[in-house]
Amino acid sequence: MKEQLLNDVVFGMAARQFDRVADFLGLDQSVRERCKWPKRILTFSLPVRMDDGRTEVFFGYRVQHHLSRGPVKGGLRFHPKVNVGEVAALAMWMNWKCSLMNLPYGGGKGGITCDPRQLSIGEQERLTRRFAQEITPFIGPEVDVMAPDVGTTEQHMAWILDTYSTHQGRFVPEIITGKPIDLQGSEGRTQATGHGVAFLATRALNKLRLPVQGATAIVQGYGNVGSYAVETMNAYGMKVLGVSDISGAVWNEKGLNPDQLRQHVAENGGVAGFPGADPIDPDDMLLQPCDVLVPAALERVITKDNVGQLQCKILAEAANGPTTPEADAIIEERGDIFVLPDVLCNAGGVTVSYFEWVQNLQRFHWTKTEVLTKLETKLNEAFENLLTFCEQHQCDARLGALAMGVDNVARVKKTRGLFP
Ligand code: GLU
Repeated sequence: MKEQLLNDVVFGMAARQFDRVADFLGLDQSVRERCKWPKRILTFSLPVRMDDGRTEVFFGYRVQHHLSRGPVKGGLRFHPKVNVGEVAALAMWMNWKCSLMNLPYGGGKGGITCDPRQLSIGEQERLTRRFAQEITPFIGPEVDVMAPDVGTTEQHMAWILDTYSTHQGRFVPEIITGKPIDLQGSEGRTQATGHGVAFLATRALNKLRLPVQGATAIVQGYGNVGSYAVETMNAYGMKVLGVSDISGAVWNEKGLNPDQLRQHVAENGGVAGFPGADPIDPDDMLLQPCDVLVPAALERVITKDNVGQLQCKILAEAANGPTTPEADAIIEERGDIFVLPDVLCNAGGVTVSYFEWVQNLQRFHWTKTEVLTKLETKLNEAFENLLTFCEQHQCDARLGALAMGVDNVARVKKTRGLFP
């Protein structure tokens, strides 16, 4: 299994990052080994009746990195490239993220290899419910709490909630987060990740003594994270020059209008063809000068091949794992890019998921202002702690953030001891 995981490029990347951190922290061999490998790797075959009468089997995965600090927490991804190695890497990153943010969770991630854009709503519902049915014995509000990720929305969460609750014979909102408000979802959860990215971008601008008003940004990815990052940065007075998604990329030197862009995407399915902007090559877009570059799509987009040409001052990693270790080393050498590492930058989502779970367990409902204020307080605290840590240890932000996350977990493992 170890070989199989390490052969996956994304897991290989997470493992290399972990090894670097473990060396830095001087973790002993036993704790290092226990922290590195996932506790449970679940694979499900999911037969689904398709609209044309055929039956198709999909494969779904859930990796629970570890349960030492509480239930595992993390999203469920629908994407054609999903595989067990990628899911295990994403679960490991969730682990360090929850720990860095001091949330009482381990990391988990799930995925189903499918292209949701090629599936009807009915097919998506049957696939999601079948997955929920198969995974029910292995999850629970104190075991594993899922949430949205790439390719899934609050509707998918509602189907999982319904399937699980039907099984239990009672309404169990605390089984999942990122669900609709009507089903006791949290105010502010939909925009939480993008809001957090924009908020941290302003904190980074402050640190660099750059004005927030008029600061420029480029955003790769216009899903739930990217779209709200665009809107929130705009609300802070920043100017978003370029946005890309699977349909293409659009550019306006004067700044894109976020409301019109959202409407265009709702009507046309992608950013391409947005009036009031020019088309631009999506790869070139990343290399344009700007204050804040926001990769908000998939892993491994900032690589050794393009990192040398980046012209941003801040790299705000809204996606998980957007920068390869080779690119990281070059960023460190360059010394002119302030990195907001993924485990901090996109932690707004899981932080409000935690708030949602807490509200559900208490049968309470907080206002949006309460949620977003608590979120900003928590992100700001983590940001300041990270800067202090990096200053004290003279390390880069990626190493610092991962080290803080891994160290908490390592201490818990050590204190709990090895059973038997
Ligand atoms: N999928 C999101 C992430 O990667 C959110 C996870 C959650 O809310 O549990 O952080």
